[in-house]
Amino acid sequence: MGGNTKVKKLELPDFVTRNTDTRHILVGGMPHSLIGNGMAADLFAHLIRTIGPGMAGRFFYDSSKEYICDLQSNLIRLHGTTFTEEKLLDNLSNLPFYLSTYGYGTGEVVIDAENKSLLVKMQNSFIAEELKDEGFDKPVCYYLAGAIAGIAEACAGTEYSCIETKCIANGDPHCEFELSPGSLSDKLYNGAKNGVK
Ligand SMILES: [Zn+2]
Repeated sequence: MGGNTKVKKLELPDFVTRNTDTRHILVGGMPHSLIGNGMAADLFAHLIRTIGPGMAGRFFYDSSKEYICDLQSNLIRLHGTTFTEEKLLDNLSNLPFYLSTYGYGTGEVVIDAENKSLLVKMQNSFIAEELKDEGFDKPVCYYLAGAIAGIAEACAGTEYSCIETKCIANGDPHCEFELSPGSLSDKLYNGAKNGVK
């Protein structure tokens, strides 16, 4: 950490608790543990070098989307929240709250109501900050894209997909994600299904 890093005592919403027996951290009742950003970044970097960015990205995206969708669905059940189609985009404007609660970074959303889509602009992506000097020269925040899609899917009850169009690891000043209804087109992930490197 740099000398200018600002540090504040941890403040978490009341849906983050702890199991007193296992000591696991509970998010909406689901067990978590603290894993360093460097650890997650190393895992992803190894995967990229082993199986190529397309396949590695798809693994991270799909895993993250599935898990975070379950987690968000659980939170919605616990809070008894219901979503209507008209209110959906407004509710998705809460995305930065969840992303920052999980420690993924800070962000803001820009809503495109006509196309039922959202742009998420993120600063300090936990994974891009770790990988920006690795020379990948491409977006690397597949985990975040999956998380954003998973949260949206849990809220909407229908399929959402998310692609990263700007990334700190690609030399951009911030990361940017496009979220829209529907499935992820394979071509957007550069032949990920075929493991193209
Ligand atoms: Zn990024």
